[in-house]
Amino acid sequence: MARKYKPVELPLRRVPVDLVDERARCPVCDERDSGVIGRLGLRLVFRCERCRVRFYRPPTALRFG
Ligand SMILES: [Zn+2]
Repeated sequence: MARKYKPVELPLRRVPVDLVDERARCPVCDERDSGVIGRLGLRLVFRCERCRVRFYRPPTALRFG
């Protein structure tokens, strides 16, 4: 019998002020205006309003400084 895991909401950190307006393209529906909802470690977490998918942008794409 497969073990069931409760989906855990990972605690998102606040996004630095200069990154709150970041937009990314949704990998599922290609929506280009997905807004950032938080930060997970060094990754920005975006949420697509159209298909409600959460996705991450790799740290290499982050602007530092
Ligand atoms: Zn989408």
